[in-house]
Amino acid sequence: MIARVTLDLALGKEFDYLIPAELAGQVEVGTRVKVPFAHRQVLGCVTALLESSPHPNLRPLLKVIGRQSHVSPAILQLARWMGEYYCCGPEAALRTVLPEAVRKEKDGWREQLFVRALPQHGPGPKLSRRQEEILEFARGHAEAPLQELLRATGAAGQTVRRLEDKGLLAIAPKISERDPYAREIILPTQSLAMNADQARALAEISAALQGGGPARRAFLLHGVTGSGKTEVYLQAIALALEQGKGAIVLVPEISLTPQTVERFKARFSSGPQQTLVAVLHSHLSAGERHDEWHKIRQGRARIAIGARSAVFAPVERLGLIIVDEEHEHSYKQEEAPRYHARDVAVVRAQMEEAVVVLGSATPSLESYYNAQKGKYRLLEMPMRADDKKMPIVRVVDMRQVARHEKKSSIFSPALKEAILQRLERKEQTILFLNRRGYATSLQCERCGYVAQCPDCSVSLTYHRQEQRLKCHICGHEEAAPLACPEAKCRNPAIRYSGLGTERVESTLVSLFPHARIKRMDSDAMKRKEDYRRILGDVRTGKIDILVGTQMIAKGLHFPNVTLVGIVHADLGLHIPDFRGSERTFQLLTQVAGRAGRGDVEGEVLVQAFTPFHPAIQYARRHDFSGFYEQEMEFRRQLKYPPLTRIALLLLRGRNEEKVKFSAEYLKRELAGKTGGLADLVIKGPAAAPLARTKTEYRFQIMLLTRQMSRLSLLLAELSAGLTLPEEVKMTVDIDPVDLM
Ligand code: ADP
Ligand code: ZN
Repeated sequence: MIARVTLDLALGKEFDYLIPAELAGQVEVGTRVKVPFAHRQVLGCVTALLESSPHPNLRPLLKVIGRQSHVSPAILQLARWMGEYYCCGPEAALRTVLPEAVRKEKDGWREQLFVRALPQHGPGPKLSRRQEEILEFARGHAEAPLQELLRATGAAGQTVRRLEDKGLLAIAPKISERDPYAREIILPTQSLAMNADQARALAEISAALQGGGPARRAFLLHGVTGSGKTEVYLQAIALALEQGKGAIVLVPEISLTPQTVERFKARFSSGPQQTLVAVLHSHLSAGERHDEWHKIRQGRARIAIGARSAVFAPVERLGLIIVDEEHEHSYKQEEAPRYHARDVAVVRAQMEEAVVVLGSATPSLESYYNAQKGKYRLLEMPMRADDKKMPIVRVVDMRQVARHEKKSSIFSPALKEAILQRLERKEQTILFLNRRGYATSLQCERCGYVAQCPDCSVSLTYHRQEQRLKCHICGHEEAAPLACPEAKCRNPAIRYSGLGTERVESTLVSLFPHARIKRMDSDAMKRKEDYRRILGDVRTGKIDILVGTQMIAKGLHFPNVTLVGIVHADLGLHIPDFRGSERTFQLLTQVAGRAGRGDVEGEVLVQAFTPFHPAIQYARRHDFSGFYEQEMEFRRQLKYPPLTRIALLLLRGRNEEKVKFSAEYLKRELAGKTGGLADLVIKGPAAAPLARTKTEYRFQIMLLTRQMSRLSLLLAELSAGLTLPEEVKMTVDIDPVDLM
């Protein structure tokens, strides 16, 4: 027999190998193998078994990695789809579907020596006191790790070995599983009695799980923060288990806290449906990841919970995939393969006839549009389950503040007053700053005017040195105005005022010298322990004011936080990304949801220079569908997603001229080869918003079409035949979420 193998190297093709007699029977489709390649040994994955090969002189496989077939046929099919759709090639896709620890199998299982007492027939030999003690300990345990026995009895290894020689004990190596959550004590929970909205949502999901006929199996669960979506997930999983099916739960990395995991473990850790819940995420050690993955592969764990890559969890008889916070951009991988875990989840569910539930308080426009079109079934839960009121949101007009005060200030009098009140009442405050400001827009502080591209409706970027405004999508350029162009304003001091979390923090310290203030942003998050400690300190009341970025917008639940301040809500609006508005709406809604989770009603203060911007006004009224309608109008006019799909081609290299030239050459090639796609729009090339990194110049071309699968194929063909200068690199990003 012959095995066709995709190597872990990016070669874009597959190779055939002989299966030697001693490995026959161990090699299946999906098996990981070690093979000779040129003068090296390389790992790869078997993608097909053949009777014969068109190639002569085949070399034999060297080794099978791991005892089990690693990639199931279903996942192999998914990887194929991914390689084509995301234009990344089969090997990159295959590499991604297995955790590295499993692919290389170098950490493997951890084996440990275990001691077991053997049954004794007739009178035993004479033993020392120490030996009696050891035997007694061993008899008191079904099986004890040798290390533990030595520690408990204080005996030496030799003494134990002597008992083994006498036939009283058996010592043997055994797999000892790593359990990353071994130290947590988890109390089991029971299903809650559902309210009417929850019951209705669950009934629909239940009907889909029972299948029968071409039932619609994809759902969008739109429920406000605190509406009890998690309870719906839990009970839906219970239904899947009842049918003997397994489930995958995806959550954004950032909300994959021990508390989240605990909610799932607690529900399924006892009772008739008891099953292991395996956890897959990047903070586990390689060994832990290996063991968690195999718990699923062997079917001992029927529920997998994890971030992005858990969408590839090897759950057999998959019944249900949950994607919580489906609008989150972290589901998109920002390196090849640039897949979106939500979209992969939908495709996988379709392939395996499973049900998929996308949940969010602020669905992405893509998903809501799919629900409107009937591709997903929409489930609404508009009320909080715990009867808490939605917080009151007030918008503070920073233009007024700027007019009254000589120099620009960070905090409005209203926000200062509100913070002071909280300090006096011993309640807590969260201050939020959306810091996406490296591409600086030109904004007038007096009237709120922002310079925009006439063609793309994204903010122009202000290039201070050249005194010019540039569009980073289509390349449009104009001179920067000397005064605000608004007829009623004409403010000569039009400029961007830079703000950062550090300046917010230091100003805060000087305003409230006695308050206990902590800052939390991605630097702090690098050390997981800091993140946990700060959150613990907020919970136990050791911090009065917490300042942070996106990071603190998610899923935190602090009863004593009664004030949330958003320092500069416009910061995320005026960027060269057409999703700025959507993201701001989502962020404001999520952040506002942090206030008033306890008994005291919450208050949210939003500071903005464009207070009447729809993203801000609709978030203030907690009005998702209002926002959706008006934002869709804008997307429709400019033919942006969700009405089309985008492919972003990025070219980068050290030599600016060469990169620019390559981008123009690429555009010509594209225009010549994509004639079959009637609706294709090509924008650019333009300098990318992040136009220059330390060592590279970056140019991009944006393609918009409704027929992405066809465009993907065309792009794969095109890039295979493309001759770019060697030092110019191209990346293709299908359905990009971050245009910055
Ligand atoms: P979401 O996931 O939508 O943000 P959660 O599932 O976290 O909401 O629920 C918010 C709060 O409401 C939790 O404290 C949860 O225990 C509670 N809750 C959810 N469903 C019910 C219910 N049916 N009855 C009582 N409390 C509920
Ligand atoms: Zn433009």
